[in-house]
Amino acid sequence: MIVVMQEGATEEQIQAVIRNLMDQGFDVHRSTGAVQTVLGGVGAKTEFDTRVVELMEGVQEVHPVVAPYKLASRHFRPEGTVVDLGRGVRVGGKQVVVMAGPCSVEGMEQMEAIAELVSKQGVRVMRGGAFKPRTSPYSFQGLGQKGLEIFRQVADRYNMLIVSEIMDQTQIPLMLEYVDVLQVGARNMQNYNLLRELGKVSRPILLKRGIAATIEELLLSAEYIMSGGNYNVILCERGIRTFESATRNTLDVSAIPVIQKLSHLPIIADPSHATGRRDKVLPMARAAVAAGADGILVEVHHDPDRALSDGPQALFPEQFERLMKQLRVIAEAVERTL
Ligand code: PEP
Ligand code: MN
Repeated sequence: MIVVMQEGATEEQIQAVIRNLMDQGFDVHRSTGAVQTVLGGVGAKTEFDTRVVELMEGVQEVHPVVAPYKLASRHFRPEGTVVDLGRGVRVGGKQVVVMAGPCSVEGMEQMEAIAELVSKQGVRVMRGGAFKPRTSPYSFQGLGQKGLEIFRQVADRYNMLIVSEIMDQTQIPLMLEYVDVLQVGARNMQNYNLLRELGKVSRPILLKRGIAATIEELLLSAEYIMSGGNYNVILCERGIRTFESATRNTLDVSAIPVIQKLSHLPIIADPSHATGRRDKVLPMARAAVAAGADGILVEVHHDPDRALSDGPQALFPEQFERLMKQLRVIAEAVERTL
């Protein structure tokens, strides 16, 4: 249930509603917006008559939420969520945020070369995996902690933030030392133990859609994180598995406006894993920004032919430059900046 307090409701009135909800068995989450406070009540076992709360002082309206997710629902924060990544970078506001870099951290020289080229294009968030979820156990698995150390050093030199994948809850303390945004990959979208633990930290989470997950399942995974108290969740559409085999996955572009209606959380798109081919990345990135994505997660490499993972989908430097140039024009057309 969502309780929207009146503009100017007093702290006393808000506390009275919180107490009432808790007495009814609800776990109460509070969202203090610029104008209004919204309270989300989750978890009560019994049927609840919303009029009990509706009639309390300072309450504007009460919505029984029919969607299975509550905190991720648009009702909880009608104005939308802006996730602050630090160093002045925010996702979910007017700016479309490009997160770019290699699939995997491969070494100091590689990271330095790619950091230089993406940073020159105005990128503030660099991507790169140190722990890689590979389909085959014989493929390159990532450099682990060594990779994180290299990544942090390079990112700091260019004043960039880091987004990198976490595969398991035991990695949380280590990742928190090095990483600004914790990425939960498609394969782990329903790793509920991991999601629960990520609810206990405050670091922003980039939650990717599973290859066979519905939008509702994605939002329920976000709800796992949020119900633990971490509201800094960014969703990512990265393509789903369909009957079509021309591309690695199928980018569900319509998920972007659908999610924006259902949820207040920012949504970005990953055209690299969606298509799996560099020649399709630029058109899909354009489509995503045109559709209203809050950001793009894209793979780029200074020498894609020698990449240790996902080389065929990594953009060449000049392609990345073109991508940035074109996305700036599209962002402006949809009243955003880049
Ligand atoms: C990645 O971003 O490198 C990755 C493995 O993505 P996904 O989880 O979407 O496959
Ligand atoms: Mn990859």
